[in-house]
Amino acid sequence: MFDFVMSEGQRRLQEEVRDLVSWVPRQLILDMDAMIAPFPRFFLEEAGRRNLLGLRFPEEYGGRGLKWEDEIIAISEMSLVGVPLTCLYSLVSIVGECIVQFGSEDQKRRFLVPTIKGEKVCAEALTEPRGGSDFFGATCTARREGDHYVLHGQKRFIVGAEGADYFMVYARTDPDAPPRDGLSCFLVERDESVEVKTVYGLMGARGSGTGRVLFRDTRVPAENLVGEENGASHIFYRMMVPERMTSAAGCVGAAREAIELAARYTTRRKAFGTAIKNFQAVSFMIAESLVKLDAMASLIWMTARAIDSGVPHGRMRRMVSEAKKFATEAVWEICYNAMQAMGGIAYTNVYPIERMLRDSRLLSIWTGTNQVMNLIIQHEFYKELEQQVKGRRDVELDAPEAFNEDEKIYE
Ligand SMILES: Cc1cc2nc3c(=O)[nH]c(=O)nc-3n(C[C@H](O)[C@H](O)[C@H](O)COP(=O)(O)OP(=O)(O)OC[C@H]3O[C@@H](n4cnc5c(N)ncnc54)[C@H](O)[C@@H]3O)c2cc1C
Repeated sequence: MFDFVMSEGQRRLQEEVRDLVSWVPRQLILDMDAMIAPFPRFFLEEAGRRNLLGLRFPEEYGGRGLKWEDEIIAISEMSLVGVPLTCLYSLVSIVGECIVQFGSEDQKRRFLVPTIKGEKVCAEALTEPRGGSDFFGATCTARREGDHYVLHGQKRFIVGAEGADYFMVYARTDPDAPPRDGLSCFLVERDESVEVKTVYGLMGARGSGTGRVLFRDTRVPAENLVGEENGASHIFYRMMVPERMTSAAGCVGAAREAIELAARYTTRRKAFGTAIKNFQAVSFMIAESLVKLDAMASLIWMTARAIDSGVPHGRMRRMVSEAKKFATEAVWEICYNAMQAMGGIAYTNVYPIERMLRDSRLLSIWTGTNQVMNLIIQHEFYKELEQQVKGRRDVELDAPEAFNEDEKIYE
């Protein structure tokens, strides 16, 4: 993020996060990538002890009552320890948003407070083996039986599944209602009826316990229903904000590091008797990456400010989707450029660029694919287009033949 637009408080927050990031053992990052590390619960415990989880949430629940403008700084710094830990860190922001916005007081006390303290690990379970993009086609069911719901079905690719104490789960409570009107959201505590069946062998973003979760007639107390029965679509639409903002912000620090690693290398490495940065073919890759980095940081910053200032929902959805799409594609291109600028050595594990490249590939797939981002962006824009902006010049008329109605045939 841009240091020069930060407040004193934001600078202090950045320092605090930098301190936590420096505390993370190097071996943990290596072991997570090698998929030999146990689930890194201690990282969340430490972040909780330092009061760095759930920064945006009210102080009465253990948060700091900060804004998106602050949280993106924290997540951007956090991204130096890699995608999997950043994702576990962000899950508190994601699941916490659901509880803060839609949960009961009891749910805030039982789930949110210990999660912010780092004492309870949460996971978000939307995606099913049958598909992630078609969220409203969810087939997991929850049947009301007295003071409980009975949850049955499967979820796939759930980050943190291995270590989670509870899951935020969407399930169908009315099979006869239209898809959008028959889903409910639950906080599901882990018990013996909840099985994490597979922990996936991933290309990147490894070590955060991403698994398939089976609910076999899991009994969920009715008081763990979040919001209203069959009312999960409102929650889902809101959850897009923290999911996508955290994905976007998590690109910034990592992208900056990739550029700096590559730039440093190109000042040291020589070919044809000169440092390779003296070849424009090399240094222009650094330039292109810097433009992308600053553009992504600007877009994320502006989007955070827009959310904090209460921009209308449609505009917020568009901006959040744009930020997620742009940042996640930019970080991939930046890692690609970094590898290209460094040559063969970057393809080995002597430098972390190969891990960063593998990690970053995930970002344009999860929290909604970038194709789905395009769907939202165009949808919201076409809706905006219908609203005339009062007092704005109609540029369509600034053409000599603008009033030639014979040529303005549209069908
Ligand atoms: C490592 C990892 C971690 C993840 N973590 C979580 C998690 O913690 N919680 C969770 O719930 N999910 C998680 N996911 C799931 C992720 O969000 C989904 O993979 C993603 O939403 C896409 O769903 P899918 O894989 O089922 O692909 P599909 O939905 O089958 O999509 C396949 C392709 O079709 C395209 N497509 C589908 N529908 C449309 C459409 N209408 N218009 C245009 N293109 C379309 C997609 O863009 C994609 O290119 C994770 C995934 C991975 C790989």
